[in-house]
Amino acid sequence: MHIAVKNYTLNNNIEIPAIGFGTWQTPNGETAVQAVKSALEAGYLHIDTAAVYGNEKSIGTAIAESKVPRESLFLTSKLWNTERGFESTLKAFDRTLRDLQTDYLDLYLIHWPANARQFNNWEEINAETWRALEQLYKTGKVKAIGLSNFLPHHLEAILKTAEIIPVINQVEFHPGMLQQETAALCKKHNILIEAWSPLGTGKMLTNEILGEIAARYAKSVAQLCIRWCLQHGVLPLPKSITPTRISHNLEVYDFEITQEDMAVIDGMPYIGGSGLNPDEVDF
Ligand code: NDP
Repeated sequence: MHIAVKNYTLNNNIEIPAIGFGTWQTPNGETAVQAVKSALEAGYLHIDTAAVYGNEKSIGTAIAESKVPRESLFLTSKLWNTERGFESTLKAFDRTLRDLQTDYLDLYLIHWPANARQFNNWEEINAETWRALEQLYKTGKVKAIGLSNFLPHHLEAILKTAEIIPVINQVEFHPGMLQQETAALCKKHNILIEAWSPLGTGKMLTNEILGEIAARYAKSVAQLCIRWCLQHGVLPLPKSITPTRISHNLEVYDFEITQEDMAVIDGMPYIGGSGLNPDEVDF
């Protein structure tokens, strides 16, 4: 079944399909080509990748070989941490375009903020990297620019020198991981939250409470988690390489989680996830 995915509107008035297809840990080569082809066939029009995933070339191949016109697609990639800074960001962006076989991106994100643990001048590094994204945006090579893994203090620092407000902050978001402070600050600036690991990289799927709630709607835990993101006004990026799961994860528009069940899920303790703290990571 081909599902019509709804859209969110970004703060620069660009529309973005409200469910994106995740590709982290999807190996470059036939696996990535087939996964992305399955996603396009199922009705995803939004693909999320990153230079560090190493699969941009295969994603480019899948898109080129599909019947979906480039302009119907929303394509996101991310700048890896070793490429921060003005000039190196511009070069990394060009490599990403080449690998994806396209001449523009819909969205380019700074994958992780430089943090104080690694850099005394982390604020300056992030500001220079952002300045490069602003330049790419002004030249039209990218339709929207944003951030990933930025905690409130990283975001506050960027906003001090930013000419352009980021459209998105992509952060870990799933039951037990609500990112309340980051989400509140993003809301204040009209920055959309994208949920990475909406299924907790699979760790949500065996949780009993989620299982009981999902069963009451005759849905799977995966569908419940994806729907829960949407009802929070967050954009989920479920990943799968399995065709049946890929299409199943879009079937989330035919039920609504009640306020009571939303509150139960919101109140759940941490039940697993990546555990990566942007202030602590050393990559
Ligand atoms: P998810 O939270 O989406 O979970 C994916 C796992 O769940 C895979 O093992 C997949 O298996 C399995 N799965 C998916 N759907 C189902 C289903 N319906 N039933 C049962 N199992 C299912 O994964 P990710 O951690 O990859 O996060 C999603 C995306 O977010 C990434 O792919 C990436 O695009 C982005 N991301 C961004 C980060 C950042 O720093 N900005 C960090 C991490 C992720 P299988 O594939 O075998 O079918």
